Amino acid sequence: MAVEAAQLMEKLTALARRRGFIFQSSELYGGINGAWDYGPLGVELKRNVKAAWWQQVVTDREDVVGLDSSILMHPLVWKASGHVQNFADPMVDCKKCKKRYRVDEIEPEYETTGKVPTQCPDAKCKGELTGARKFNLMFETHLGPVADSAAKTFLRPETAQGIFVNFQNVVNSTRIKVPFGIAQIGKSFRNEINPRNFTFRSREFEQMELEFFCKPGSDDDWFKYWVEERKKWYAGLGIKMDRLRFREHEKEKLSHYSKATTDVEYLFPFGWGELEGIANRTDFDLRAHQIGMRSVGKWRGEELQDFKLVDEDPEHQSGKLSYFDDEEKRRYIPYVIEPSAGADRATLAFLCDAYDEDEAGGEVRFVLRLHPRLAPVKVAVLPLVKKDGMPERARPLYDALKKRFAAVYDDSAAIGKRYRRQDEIGTPFCVTIDGDTLKDGTVTLRERDSMKQQRISEESVVAFVDERIYGMR
Ligand code: ATP
Repeated sequence: MAVEAAQLMEKLTALARRRGFIFQSSELYGGINGAWDYGPLGVELKRNVKAAWWQQVVTDREDVVGLDSSILMHPLVWKASGHVQNFADPMVDCKKCKKRYRVDEIEPEYETTGKVPTQCPDAKCKGELTGARKFNLMFETHLGPVADSAAKTFLRPETAQGIFVNFQNVVNSTRIKVPFGIAQIGKSFRNEINPRNFTFRSREFEQMELEFFCKPGSDDDWFKYWVEERKKWYAGLGIKMDRLRFREHEKEKLSHYSKATTDVEYLFPFGWGELEGIANRTDFDLRAHQIGMRSVGKWRGEELQDFKLVDEDPEHQSGKLSYFDDEEKRRYIPYVIEPSAGADRATLAFLCDAYDEDEAGGEVRFVLRLHPRLAPVKVAVLPLVKKDGMPERARPLYDALKKRFAAVYDDSAAIGKRYRRQDEIGTPFCVTIDGDTLKDGTVTLRERDSMKQQRISEESVVAFVDERIYGMR
């Protein structure tokens, strides 16, 4: 049964709060904007999203390794990467209602035309807007006790730079050879002008980023390859393909470092939104750090904005970030293909996609049709009644299941009500222990989506659930 888009976000946020998926950060203190807390079910769901990403990008492959780099980095990293100079959004303020807007969001053609709107987009206000000002999205912080400019650095606004600056460490410490990738999942921070749409645009969020290094010239093929791989990932986790699109950026609109970019977008109830950007970043980043690292000794902690990076080797062939290709017997700076996805946005997309309502027993049934691999709880064990030896029989089965999967045990309320509770949080399987279990050793296995029930033997439950979750990959 289709749930109207206009109501879906409201219903989903209510469910998320009611059942412990996502809470507003610091709710007790009135909340803060752009930060979210994942509750007991939300943390499991997001962990499953991240695990599924890691499985595809790292575990299932021989040519990608993982990394967990720090959030705090040398301030020159952010100068060399261009974030100090360019990681800014243009913003305008309404002089009347004081609302602040990102120019490119209220004027979609801004990037090409440079046209800045003059009237507040709020139909009730229509006040006059200020001119556009650049607002750097990085959160500043200070290392150590002295808060002067020498100690200033930033919370990372993306995990990718931690990968680039470890490129040589990974090459030297492993036997991996180009083409290869380094993957990382971790927190990033952006002081977004206008956080909104639930977790979609937050100020603290998690990214899942792969930097795949390849020989210049092979980059176009690797780019196409990763676009296809990522499509398979979303499809494999059951996302509705008519709500997913792959949008290629027009050449004129590409960022200065990118040769090609495809955005993966999902049709959220509030419209199309980016889940992931896949970019051919050429050798831009490694070259940038090649210059950045030469500047370290020369840097005395002046304002980074004014500091000039020292480029003593315009060819960039001799530095640490070039790569010696043994087969070709030559040195080059690898090109990079970057699929960069948001863990929170993917989680939100899977939640929106899974939310459904249908009818059962004359009542509305709320159900999250999550892929079994993503479901926060895989199986619920439910003794029909709390007596007649049923709990004693159900407990060992629960113990066996919980060793392998996220499982819950629930013996309170009528069985129908317990099924509804599990449907609402997306539990794909419920196992009920009843009078027949005691006689013939069979249990009722109920499936969330079809609500079909079948009897299977107690001993086969673990294998059944295992097959249905992991056999579906
Ligand atoms: P947007 O245009 O929506 O601001 P972006 O193009 O700046 O996003 P990237 O820098 O490409 O985003 O970051 C890669 C991914 O990180 C995005 O596709 C998204 O999934 C995630 N991401 C970026 N900003 C946020 C945010 N403020 N909140 C949640 N996720 C984010």
